[in-house]
Amino acid sequence: MQKRIYLCLAHMSGNEQKFIQEAFDTNWVVPLGPNVNGFEEDLKQFVNSVPSESNNPHREVVALSAGTAAIHLALVACGVHAGDEVICQSFTFCASSNPVTYVGATPVFVDSEKESWNMDPELLEQAIIDCKAKTGQYPKAIIPVALYGMPYRIEEIMAIANKYSIPVIEDAAEGMGSRWKGQVLGTFGDYGILSFNGNKMITTSGGGALVCKDAASRQTIMWYATQAREAYPYYQHEAIGFNYRMSNICAGIGRGQMTVLDDHLNHHKHIAQCYREAFSQIDGITFHDAPSTDYDSNYWLCTILLDEQLHIHGEEKAYAEAVHGAVGGAAGVVHGGGNVHTDCEPNRNVEAMRLILDQAGIESRPLWKPMHKQPVYKNSPAYINGVSEALFKRGLCLPSGPMVSDEDVAYIIEQIRLAIK
Ligand SMILES: *Cc1c(COP(=O)(O)O)cnc(C)c1O
Repeated sequence: MQKRIYLCLAHMSGNEQKFIQEAFDTNWVVPLGPNVNGFEEDLKQFVNSVPSESNNPHREVVALSAGTAAIHLALVACGVHAGDEVICQSFTFCASSNPVTYVGATPVFVDSEKESWNMDPELLEQAIIDCKAKTGQYPKAIIPVALYGMPYRIEEIMAIANKYSIPVIEDAAEGMGSRWKGQVLGTFGDYGILSFNGNKMITTSGGGALVCKDAASRQTIMWYATQAREAYPYYQHEAIGFNYRMSNICAGIGRGQMTVLDDHLNHHKHIAQCYREAFSQIDGITFHDAPSTDYDSNYWLCTILLDEQLHIHGEEKAYAEAVHGAVGGAAGVVHGGGNVHTDCEPNRNVEAMRLILDQAGIESRPLWKPMHKQPVYKNSPAYINGVSEALFKRGLCLPSGPMVSDEDVAYIIEQIRLAIK
């Protein structure tokens, strides 16, 4: 059987089982315990690691059942209620904005700037001013996203957020270990999200964490994450809580994974360098690179843009084949699509490239379709400059994970060259 090369498969260090075994041996098979504490300690050390002690962000960390749960709790802790508005980067995975709807608030989508592909600070300010004019209230939070690991323009975003006193919830789910001027993403805003889903920089099988700015907010998050129990000998509840704490078994995997986090980061950056060099030699394809050395991306997923003029074998019939493969596949898609076309889809040369790579045993994926183009969000306000939609139409994510070898990259590049007419 042909080997398959995936976007980002989990990779175990070999230390995970020791921590899990310990949990069983000591009967800590619950959503708290020594692994959870140990994992949080490791994460805390990691997020606070900076080149010089002077800008140590001194953050606290709570381990949770998912990155999505972390965003949900951050919104609750920011006091976001039904009817409020929350600004969210449009160019993202749905988990950034879905929790806004869980609390009954409305996401207000903000488009990207061309360089980092992340939240455009100018549009952000326009959205804030407009929101105040229309509703009489400022938005309750701002969610920038480190898409594919690339840092956002955090200094400008923080300056605007501070000007209007709006909390920032950094979605660094894809950006674990990415840094802005040396400081780890997730440690700039009021809260920072990390994800340890199976395909992220490290995995706990499923899980996430919330980086908190101080011990008091950590305490609040912990309380909400464990059903908001009051200190009585019996169950007493004065607020609605959630069951979002991480399991001690998952945290055992996390502790093992922390021993290879630096290796993973280095590997992703190395793969990025291989692609960078290769695509500098191929006309019509652009590797998405960091705008400057301030942006230290983890290159969680390496991405490319195809020129519209680039011709790919089979592009005439690319969409005729379409989407069968998606339903029931590894990604857990269970709804069969209706029509193959939507009003916003990748260009046919991109779809043709995806199909050719798929035939060659290489998984690739279009960029995330912007939230403001998703039918489910058609009623949400959006501040748009066309950037994310244009990127979505031209882009592909390529295999980038710890299981991707130099030989794999060479093979992928070769297949891409062959696909070009
Ligand atoms: C994966 C992801 C999340 C959510 O993380 P889970 O742990 O899968 O719930 C949030 N935001 C972005 C941008 C993501 O890619």
